[in-house]
Amino acid sequence: MSCVPLQQSVADLDVAFKNFFNSCKGKRKGRKVGYPKFKKRTSSQSARFRVGGFSLKGDGVYLAKIGIVNPIWSRELPSEPSSVTVIKDCANRYFLSFVVEVEPVKSEAKNPSIGIDLGIKTFAVMSNGETAESPSYKKLDRKVRKLQRKGARQPKDSKRQNATRIRIAKLHNQIADTRKDFLHKLSTKIVNENQVIVLEDLNVSGMVKNRKLSRAISQQGWHEFRILCQAKSEKFGREFKVISRWEPTSQVCSDCGFKWGKIDLSIRSVLCLSCGTEQDRDENAARNIEKVGMGNRHDSKCTQR
Ligand SMILES: [Zn+2]
Repeated sequence: MSCVPLQQSVADLDVAFKNFFNSCKGKRKGRKVGYPKFKKRTSSQSARFRVGGFSLKGDGVYLAKIGIVNPIWSRELPSEPSSVTVIKDCANRYFLSFVVEVEPVKSEAKNPSIGIDLGIKTFAVMSNGETAESPSYKKLDRKVRKLQRKGARQPKDSKRQNATRIRIAKLHNQIADTRKDFLHKLSTKIVNENQVIVLEDLNVSGMVKNRKLSRAISQQGWHEFRILCQAKSEKFGREFKVISRWEPTSQVCSDCGFKWGKIDLSIRSVLCLSCGTEQDRDENAARNIEKVGMGNRHDSKCTQR
């Protein structure tokens, strides 16, 4: 074992304790941070090498005390990496993850702005009328649930249960990879085409408490999508906006500003009483999100009268 990853894990423990104590004292924003947990043999393992602990040797990577490993490169490194993390995930796959610095690229977008409404049935409805369907995770999910039941019946820490655990982890990886591929493609397309991207702030942790929908919501990866959009906006010099979750985007007509109030989730389209246009629920919401984000929304209080 090289000394570098050992020092790095002590440094990580230091960060974990600092986060925990700052969270206790109220110095840290956001959700409460718990006491650091011990690593598990069964969870994913990682080792981080800093400069001096690794070097690039042609197509291979030299890791201290391990030697040269030959990874399959997903893309070329944009600059000299400052560290590399070797990750072994639960399904025994190995990854190298490099930390590099990237310069933002300036480019022109063809559309000025877009609002996006995220949902379960259709993943995203854009304010220009486009929709994006997410891949179906149903089949894989059914297999996961079956194996989870099987694993629960098997004796704890047995060889058989371990085999089941790895099979479950592999399926989870398959779901995650499908989702990641979809989200990456969609967010790249959106960021490439639009100058300003407006999303809605969703209360995901609150929605997950709905037991009937929690699995479907978690599988969508809304938060992942938001992070990808944000990062890519930064990279391509776009503006990324998130509007408040209390904005009544599905209760207002996006054409005239008439407020019809709360409607049941089962109602998919609304005929506006004021201007007579039929509004698709999600598309209307997406256009409202764009309007609120761009700052030219209707004054709903005036038109309500
Ligand atoms: Zn209207």
